[in-house]
Amino acid sequence: MPREPRDSHSPRLATRLVKGGTSTPVDGGRAVNPSVVRASTVLFDTMADMNDARRRRGTERLFTYGARGNPTAFALEDVVAELEGGYRTRLFPTGLAAIAMVFLAYLRPGDHALISDCVYQPLRHFVSTFLEPWGVSVTYFRADGSDAASRMTPDTRLVYAECPGSLVYEMCDLPALAEIAHRHEALLVADNTWGSGLQYRPLTLGADVSIMAATKYLGGHSDVMMGTVTTTEAAWQRLATMSDAQGAAVSPDDAYLVLRGTRTLKARLTMHERHALEIAHWLTAHRTVARVFCPALPDHPGHALWQRDCTGTNGLVSFELANASNEAAERFVDGLSLFGIGASWGGFESLATVVNVAKTRTREDWHDAGPIVRLHVGLEDPRDLIADLSNGLDALEA
Ligand SMILES: *Cc1c(COP(=O)(O)O)cnc(C)c1O
Repeated sequence: MPREPRDSHSPRLATRLVKGGTSTPVDGGRAVNPSVVRASTVLFDTMADMNDARRRRGTERLFTYGARGNPTAFALEDVVAELEGGYRTRLFPTGLAAIAMVFLAYLRPGDHALISDCVYQPLRHFVSTFLEPWGVSVTYFRADGSDAASRMTPDTRLVYAECPGSLVYEMCDLPALAEIAHRHEALLVADNTWGSGLQYRPLTLGADVSIMAATKYLGGHSDVMMGTVTTTEAAWQRLATMSDAQGAAVSPDDAYLVLRGTRTLKARLTMHERHALEIAHWLTAHRTVARVFCPALPDHPGHALWQRDCTGTNGLVSFELANASNEAAERFVDGLSLFGIGASWGGFESLATVVNVAKTRTREDWHDAGPIVRLHVGLEDPRDLIADLSNGLDALEA
């Protein structure tokens, strides 16, 4: 066996493979973007440094172990905290994981939670498969918040809103809801995925906690999953402690992708909004369309609140078909050529799907509504998108 040439003081190859190449000092300037720092173990110079970091990491943001975050994720946390106008932010592998962590952090068996009727549907599944069996009772309140005060109980610890709501974008009066929650010493949590921190900012309207599925507009390119939770200073510690206890962390590569998406968030949303409004107005005038759902339209029931609290709209537009069966609506979506068929949204591309609003509401009855199509209007030329929709609606009539 050939021997490695070595003098008596230099480490052997196996040792050098481990010890070499760990620092990359470079002369010159620096990159615009933060590095992707992949790490499980984090090294300290001395035991005293390590012990000191361990003492402080429960309350301070320190790089001490991969499961407690990494510098790339910290950079994204700072951007999201800024967007939301909050104290600090934690990142989770998906939007749904972020939502679940909020309930785990702030509720205990015996507590009661009040949840908006228009929430993202999988939250109801989390409620029935975990929260209720765990001993937390849940009541849903009307999407406009009108019955929230009357549904508070002495055990209500958390009020959960989504504004605008999923699928048809109901608005509620968030400052009024905050007042109701705080009067009962409950926290107000808002799902801010629709607003993305640009069009809507729940923490500035009285919420204690704001959640976003960064999977949608923050990522913006349909290639990464992530959830964010941002809180006020008072609400922070319980979230941080529970996240650490459960080892919740995101990869630096995913954090990098979302961070890159946030750089163009404003530019993309401005364009999504412009295209969506053009299509919404066109749909409103079409004879096969019964109703168009978009809070920026004057006839939307939440329009006044949208005008008061939002700074814009996004690419989401839903519409109800007049005199069409569900099968016809599905055929219409199948026939579109520029809209992908898919449930998520927030990427650069257009999507269409038939949604079942009746199945996702228990406080309001949507069974008499016609079939509802949800569009996510992307960055394509809206004239092409309108031509595609127009062909589809003509075929529906024929
Ligand atoms: C998509 C979505 C979520 C969940 O995000 P995932 O990353 O898909 O888990 C939560 N809330 C709303 C309003 C959403 O649209």
